[in-house]
Amino acid sequence: MVKKKQDSVASQAYAVETRLRGLLGASVFDTWLKSLSVGGLKDGTLTLFLPTNFFCSYIARNFSNEITQAWQSENPDVLRIKFEVGSPAFAETPAAPEKAEVEQTQASASGLMESEKDVLSTALDPRFTFDNFVVGAPNEFAYAAARRVAESATPSFNPLYLYSGAGLGKTHLMHSIAWYIREHDPFRRVVYLSAEKFMYLFIRAIRYKDTLSFKEELRKVDVLMIDDVQFLIGKENTQDEFFHTFNALVGSGKQIVLSADKPPVNLEGIEERLKTRLGSGLVADIHQTTFELRMGILESKAQNLGVYVPQEVISFLAEKITSSVRELEGALLRVAAHVQLMGGEVTLERTCDILRDILSVLDRRVTIEEIQRKVAEHYNIRVAEMTSKRRDRPVARPRQIAMFLAKELTTKSLPDIGRAFDRDHTTVIHAVKAIENLRAADPSFKEETDSLRRMLSV
Ligand code: ADP
Ligand code: MG
Repeated sequence: MVKKKQDSVASQAYAVETRLRGLLGASVFDTWLKSLSVGGLKDGTLTLFLPTNFFCSYIARNFSNEITQAWQSENPDVLRIKFEVGSPAFAETPAAPEKAEVEQTQASASGLMESEKDVLSTALDPRFTFDNFVVGAPNEFAYAAARRVAESATPSFNPLYLYSGAGLGKTHLMHSIAWYIREHDPFRRVVYLSAEKFMYLFIRAIRYKDTLSFKEELRKVDVLMIDDVQFLIGKENTQDEFFHTFNALVGSGKQIVLSADKPPVNLEGIEERLKTRLGSGLVADIHQTTFELRMGILESKAQNLGVYVPQEVISFLAEKITSSVRELEGALLRVAAHVQLMGGEVTLERTCDILRDILSVLDRRVTIEEIQRKVAEHYNIRVAEMTSKRRDRPVARPRQIAMFLAKELTTKSLPDIGRAFDRDHTTVIHAVKAIENLRAADPSFKEETDSLRRMLSV
C-alpha cells in the first residue's frame, strides 16, 4: 500500500507509471518497468532503483528517454534520471501491486537473471512474440514456418532460412520462436545470437584455439538461431569452421534458424558450398508490406499502446509510410508519445504536424509501386506484367525501364528493386545497363525516358 504521508516524488510515481504504461503498452511495462522503484530527487537528479545490473543496463539503453520525459511532464524539477541497482532506503513501489502480481514479477525477474548468466544468448525483446505479430499475405509463409519450428519438438526443416529487406519482421519472428519455446517447453534449450555476437564468440574461440569447447557449448543447444547472417562474411577458415559446426549440429538433430537480407545464393563473400548448405532447408522470404498489412499493424500497435487512433489517421499513415514496418511503427510511436505527453486526441492535422519532417521527405520520394504503375500506364500494359514471367519485348522493355527508373529515383538497393519485380539483383543490373545503352544510342528513347522520369519526380 502507498503510505499516507509521501514526499512529492513518491506521489507522482503513480501518474508517471500510468503514462509509461499507456505509452509502452502493458506487456512491455510489466516485463521491464514494474520492478522500478523510486529513490530521491536531489539537485535535479532523480534516482530510480532496479533489481539487477541486467535490468539497469537494458532499461537505460531502451527506455531512458521515455522515462525521463514522463517524469519531466509530472515534475519539472526532474532534470535527469539515474538508474541504480538495489532498492531505496525506504523501499516503496510506485503503486503497490497486488500480491499475485508481485510474485509474477519476481518470477519473470529471476527468469531474466538466468538468461543473463547465459553468456551465449543475446537478450530477447519482450514485445517480439507471435501474439504481437500481425499476419498478412506478405509474411504468412514465413510466419507459418516460424510457428512450425517453435511447435515441433524435432527439426522440421533444417535450416529455416528467413530473408527480407530491413525492418519487415525477421528478428521479431526469431524472438517469437524463442519466447514460445521458453514458455511451452522450458527444457528445450534455445539460443538466439546476432551475427555479430556469433562472429565474436567464434573468432575468439578460434584465436584462443578453443573451438572445441565452443562447439561443445553449441552442441548442448536444441535450437540455434543466428540473425543477419549476411554479416558472417569472413576469412576462409572462419567459414570452414562454421561449415563444419553447422553440419555437426544438423547431423545431431539440432534445429537451426537463420535470417539474412537476401536469399542464400545472393550472399556475397560466402563460399558456394556454404551457400548451398544454407539454402538446403526451407527458405522463406517476407515480402514488402501491403496497404492492408500496414493497416492491420497500425491498428494492433495503437491498441497495444492504449492510444485511440482514428481510422483516417491509420489509413493516412498506411498510405504514406510504406518503406518498412520499423518506420511505420516509429511514426506511430512518435504520434502516440506526443499525444500522451501533451494531452488531447490524435487527429489527422496533429499527425501531419508531428510528422512534418518525415512526411516532407516522403512526399519527394517516389515508390517503386508508383514507378511500376506509371510506366505500365504509359506503355499500355497491365501492372501485373511488371512481375510476370513474360519475356517478350512489349512487356520486357517497359519492365526494364521501370527497373532503371527505380534505380535512379529511389534509394532502394538492387536486391530490393529486384524483389519488387520478382527478379534477382543481377536482372536489375542487366536492365539498367540495357536502358543506359539504349539511351546513349537513341535520342528519342532518351527523350521518352526523361519525360517519364520528370513525370515521376514531381
Ligand atoms: P528485421 O529483423 O526484418 O529488420 P524486425 O523484426 O526488427 O525487422 O522488425 C522491425 C519492427 O517492426 C519491430 O518493432 C517489429 O516488432 C515490427 N514488425 C515487423 N513486422 C511486424 C508484424 N507483422 N507485426 C507486428 N510488428 C511487426
Ligand atoms: Mg533484424
